Amino acid sequence: MEKKATVMKFGGTSVQDAAAFARVAEIVSGEKENSPVVVTSAMAKVTDALLQAFEWAKKGNATTAFESLQPHFERHIKVAEELLGESGRKSLQLELDYAKQELNDLLVRVSRRSLPLQMLKDAIVSYGEQLSSRLLVEVCQAKKLNARHADARRLIVTDDEYGSAAPVWDQTERLIRLELQPLIAAGEIPVLGGFIAASRGGETTTLGRGGSDYSAALVGAALQAREIQIWTDVTGVLTCDPRICPEARTLKTLSYEEAAELAYFGAKVLHPKTIQPAVDLQIPVRVCNSRQPTEQGTMILPQSQSTPRLVKSIAYKKGITILHITSARMLGAYGFMSAIFQIFERHRTVIDVVTTSEVSVSLTLDDTAALEAIIKDLERIGTVEIEPNQAVVCVVGSGLRDTSGVAAQIFAAISDINISLISHGASSVNMTFVVQENVIGEVIKRLHDEFFTN
Ligand code: ASP
Ligand code: MG
Repeated sequence: MEKKATVMKFGGTSVQDAAAFARVAEIVSGEKENSPVVVTSAMAKVTDALLQAFEWAKKGNATTAFESLQPHFERHIKVAEELLGESGRKSLQLELDYAKQELNDLLVRVSRRSLPLQMLKDAIVSYGEQLSSRLLVEVCQAKKLNARHADARRLIVTDDEYGSAAPVWDQTERLIRLELQPLIAAGEIPVLGGFIAASRGGETTTLGRGGSDYSAALVGAALQAREIQIWTDVTGVLTCDPRICPEARTLKTLSYEEAAELAYFGAKVLHPKTIQPAVDLQIPVRVCNSRQPTEQGTMILPQSQSTPRLVKSIAYKKGITILHITSARMLGAYGFMSAIFQIFERHRTVIDVVTTSEVSVSLTLDDTAALEAIIKDLERIGTVEIEPNQAVVCVVGSGLRDTSGVAAQIFAAISDINISLISHGASSVNMTFVVQENVIGEVIKRLHDEFFTN
C-alpha cells in the first residue's frame, strides 16, 4: 500500500534566520520515513515589508519602496552564506536576482498604475514565499535531503479575489495529486510556498494573511495525509495565556470544535477556516514548536479525546465594545433581530456575542471601524447604549456540553466581579461572558486556578 504523506508547515518565525532554517531541515529529516511534504511561510517580517513597499509605490515612491526591501534580500543571502555550499549559494543568488528585477518592475507598475493594483499587490507579496521556499529547498538539499521545489501557483487554483482568494477545490485537488504524488512515490520531498496560488487565468493570487496554514490544509486534504503538522513558535495550544498565568500548560489533545472556539478568541494558533479542508477529511492537525521539536505539541482531532477535565482552555479577547439596543417595539414582534443583523451586515461588521431579553438585545463587537454609522442606523430601531473597553472570556471544553455544574463553578470563582453578558450553549463547547477589560488578568488567573491548579 502507498504510504500516506505527512504535511509539515513552517511559519514565518520557524524560518526567520539561518539557525531557524537549520532546525527546519533537522525536523524534516526526522520525518524522512513518513513521506514529508513541506509548506513554508515567508521569512518572518517579509510579508509585512512587501506590503509596506507596495504602499510606498502606490504613493509614487517606487525607488524608496524597492530599497526598503534590501535588508530582507540580505537576510536571505545571509542564510545562504551560513548554510549552503557553493552551488546552492549560486542558485539562490540567481533566484534572488530574478526576484529583484521582477519586484522592481512590479513596484514601478504600481506607481504608474499600469495594471490593476490588487493584482500587482498579490504578485509583489508572493515573493516572500517564493523566496523562502526556494531557499528552504537549497537548505534541505545541503543537509542531504532529497528536496524538490514545487511552485504552489501551479498547484492551488483560486478565484480572482486578490488578497483573499478562494481555492477551487476540484482543480486544486487534482493538480496537487498529479504533481506531488509522483514526487512522493519517488522518495522526493516536495517543498512549496504557502499562502500563494494562482487564478484560473494564471495570475498570482494569495489566500489572505496567515494563509500558509490554509495551503497546508489544502495539500493535506488533497493527499489525504496521515497528519498535518503546523510548526510555529509556541508549543501547541495552552490552557491559557502564559503571560497571565506562567503555570499554563500545553494541551495534549483538542477537538476541531474546541480549537475553532479558541482560535477565534485570540489563541493565535490556528484559524478555523484555515483547517477546514483537514476537518472535512478528519485529518489530525498537530501544532508543534520548531524551537522545541521533541515536545509533543497539541493534536487536534475529530473527536475530543476524553480527559478528566471538563475545561480545556480559557481564552480571552480585549478591546471589545458592547452595544445594548432597547426598544419596546421589540416586545412580541418578529423581524426585530433580523432588522438588527441586517444593519451589521450592511456595515460588514462581525458580531461576537449576542444575548436578548424581552425588550433589548446586547451584543459585542471587536471591530468598531463602522461604529458611528452602525449606531446611527440602530437608533432608528431603538435606543443604543455603548460600553467600550470590555473583554470577552471564553471557557472551552467538550465537558461543558451537558455539565450544568461547570457554569456554577465558573461564576463562583469570580462572584465578586461584575459580568455584563453571558452566552452559553451556541456551540455547546464554550461558555462565553464579558467583563471590564481592566479585570481580565484577575478573572483569567482565578479561573485557571479553579480548573487547572487544584
Ligand atoms: N506570509 C504570509 C503572512 O505573513 C502567510 C503566512 O505566513 O501564513 O501572512
Ligand atoms: Mg503565520
